[in-house]
Amino acid sequence: MVDIVIENVSVLMPHAEGVARHRTVGIAEGKIAFVRDADAEADAVLEAATRIDGTHKLVMPGLVDCHTHTGQQLLRGRVLDELPMIWTRIMLPFESTLTPELMRLSAKLSALEMIKNGTAAFADAGSYFMDEAATVYEQAGLRGVLSVSTMDQPGLPASIAMTCDEAVAAADGLYDRWNGAAEGRLHVAYALRALMSCSEELIRKTADHANERGALLQAHMNEYAAEVNYSLQNQGVRPFEYLERLGNVLSERFLGAHCLMLSEVEKNILVERGVKVCHCPFSNCAKATPETPSLRSRGVVEGLGSDGAAHGGLSLWAEMRLFRSIMNVEHGVPIADPAVMPARAIVNMATENGYVFLGEPDAGRIEPGAVADLITVDLRNAGMYPSGNVVNTLVECTTGSDVRDMVVDGRLIMADRRVLTLDEDAILAEADEYQAYLDDLNA
Ligand SMILES: [Zn+2]
Repeated sequence: MVDIVIENVSVLMPHAEGVARHRTVGIAEGKIAFVRDADAEADAVLEAATRIDGTHKLVMPGLVDCHTHTGQQLLRGRVLDELPMIWTRIMLPFESTLTPELMRLSAKLSALEMIKNGTAAFADAGSYFMDEAATVYEQAGLRGVLSVSTMDQPGLPASIAMTCDEAVAAADGLYDRWNGAAEGRLHVAYALRALMSCSEELIRKTADHANERGALLQAHMNEYAAEVNYSLQNQGVRPFEYLERLGNVLSERFLGAHCLMLSEVEKNILVERGVKVCHCPFSNCAKATPETPSLRSRGVVEGLGSDGAAHGGLSLWAEMRLFRSIMNVEHGVPIADPAVMPARAIVNMATENGYVFLGEPDAGRIEPGAVADLITVDLRNAGMYPSGNVVNTLVECTTGSDVRDMVVDGRLIMADRRVLTLDEDAILAEADEYQAYLDDLNA
């Protein structure tokens, strides 16, 4: 007796090392109970609460968005081609006008977009009214790491201005209310929005509170030249050297988003401290290219992120394909290496590495005993079929609409593209009012 059985399905092997055909996957008590050869007779008598026909489907780990912004969901389409500084001109003013109601709508739309695109788990880098978002993500059934946007720089709009102590108290409050909630699917990380926006006192206190609780600590790092220059001017050293000097900040629980402009000294600090790194290809293309082959060869854990819907939407399939092209043109072509970033490594970044990044190393593989966070992908349609190498095709051709089913923590949350935990039509109807507001803005 199992909770869910997926019959006659292809299975992505651990570490994306190929695909096994004609398997049957059983899920029970939140874990993958077995992966065995499909056997029509044995499968027919297997008791299961839910049966999924896996014919022409691939079962693989759910995708992990290691860096998103729930609070920027309503900024879709409003950033591309804009002149600098987008952060101060567009994003900061937008976030300062969010309300609990808008945040709830943002989270519903974000959850819907993630589920429909096969993203089973995510890390939100820090927004406002995160209790509203947490309530939605609990209902959606996704796995997530949540944070409060944490800054104490002077001159912020009054609605989001905080002192150091207020910012730390807000993070503690979210942690106390939501860490380990939703049967353990939701966790709360401490966050530093960016070093330029945080006083040294705030950096030290936030790190202390994260360390006391064994919590993750996220920050936007080395994203812009201006940010590196700020550190050099004010601290006399580069951003990661500065955090290393503070002593209590960097550890294997530190999640660095972007990490584009790294010196060799900084790369060594990442390795020594076990810092984990997330690249956001579409967003990063406006800034710089990460040195993934070099970081990978040193054993740094790297994940992929969308950076929120304002930067090209939440599809990690789009990010994977773009990332492959960037890695080739920047690192492969100059040294005539066509596989400088192999497809299986990119799929691993979006799945297995992503779960390590989130502190969930028991998920991210389709094998007995692993946490059952998984999706099925339709392999037999005009865009996918036939394929001489399914792992390559996942990077080259798959889109969100090829995702059919999603299971998180052993619970089916999308069946044949119907979201079971949220009312998709009602959410889109709620968004109609915001679309009308945007249309008025553009009129
Ligand atoms: Zn970001």
